Amino acid sequence: MKAWNRRSFLGSALASAALGGLTRRSALGLPAQARDYSKVAISVDMEGISGIVSSRERLLDAPEFAAARKWLVSDVNAAVEGALDAGATRITVHDTHGSEKRNIPYDELHPAANLIRGGNQFFWEYDALDSSYGAAFMIGMHAGPLVPALASHYFTSSIRGIRVNGRPIAESHMTAALAAHFGIPTVLVTGDQFVCRMMREWSGGEMVTVQIADSLARNSAITMPLEKTRKLIRAGAREALGKAPETKPLAFDKPLRVELDLAYPEEAKSIALMPTVEQTEDLSIAFTAKDALEAHKTLIAALLILTSPVNLARP
Ligand SMILES: [Zn+2]
Repeated sequence: MKAWNRRSFLGSALASAALGGLTRRSALGLPAQARDYSKVAISVDMEGISGIVSSRERLLDAPEFAAARKWLVSDVNAAVEGALDAGATRITVHDTHGSEKRNIPYDELHPAANLIRGGNQFFWEYDALDSSYGAAFMIGMHAGPLVPALASHYFTSSIRGIRVNGRPIAESHMTAALAAHFGIPTVLVTGDQFVCRMMREWSGGEMVTVQIADSLARNSAITMPLEKTRKLIRAGAREALGKAPETKPLAFDKPLRVELDLAYPEEAKSIALMPTVEQTEDLSIAFTAKDALEAHKTLIAALLILTSPVNLARP
């Protein structure tokens, strides 16, 4: 299904008022008219890719991964083709799924795109991001764990909730806010109906959304033929990049107050070892970050603590 559902001015105003912790602002890096819209960054996750419904299809060593990565590269190449249709000349694809980030088959990626792959990317998917990019796409995204969406989760199952400035967010909000830190508008998201609706609402209707499946549960969905999603994503990418000069980066109000709910008290205690983090409840921590990049770095450090052998060894 499509999406881009342009709201009325009143609808947009109401949606904007509901954003709370999010504000639109002009680009931090280059003024909008000076940005290079031929340079596009594409962040790729795997949970919201056409056809994928199971962890057996998303894990590098799983038996069905080989088939699923064909669907993955189909969605990515469709986005690349749509960007090219709209005039892009420099396209960087960031593989962001899992800890190893080696999901997109290198030899099947569209030859117009470069690929960032492999682990230990310090700034998560945006290790190589900077203010020279004109627009960002998010392909294969998913909702947070509070809704019955396909593979709904945060970075790790230990994280049960994330709020920024008091409002629940999902991974896609952080991804878009991090791009906004560099002044880059995120103009396209693909995934199920939950993540599409969420990002459409948070952007006040500005972000183009391409729904590639109807989630029925965390591990089932009404899917569409790959050929159809390829066409939809290509058309969405073309439209989104065409609108990039008018699309504002979405940023959180600064400073960002970030709260995390965890599964075990020991996890909250270990994350609160960081001097900037306080344990606010048995299962919760909070910190204040001066901007989205600092929030992102702190979240990555928290994630490294959560997935350390000490925490993983807990019975
Ligand atoms: Zn993922």
